[in-house]
Amino acid sequence: MNHHYCPLCFAEIPIGVENCPACGRNIEAWERQTPYYGRLIWALKNPHSEVRMGAILSLANQNHAEAAGPLAECALDYPVDVVQGMAILNAIDHLPAGTEKRQALEKLIQHPAHAVRVSAQEKLDHIL
Ligand SMILES: [Zn+2]
Repeated sequence: MNHHYCPLCFAEIPIGVENCPACGRNIEAWERQTPYYGRLIWALKNPHSEVRMGAILSLANQNHAEAAGPLAECALDYPVDVVQGMAILNAIDHLPAGTEKRQALEKLIQHPAHAVRVSAQEKLDHIL
């Protein structure tokens, strides 16, 4: 089965529609006007874990410090997903040093998963 989803509201939609039947927004215009890293940050809210994981792995290579906060939020939104949490820590680790990165790690030392908390603390110790 080949599913297609609105990148804005994540509803399942027919392939090739210009406006999403669910949220009514023009998908093509949004994709054209939103920078790639902005679309990746938005994709962190996607309910499908494989889409989120793709965005996490891509953001690790995008070098945008402002991705750190949304990445941390994503990890906290899925407290039992340790694999995703560790991938997010790895992505944050690749981002440029700065306030966003430090604050994101400070959030993740509160993560419900022990492995994520420990790794976040190690990375935080490393940058302080
Ligand atoms: Zn939509």
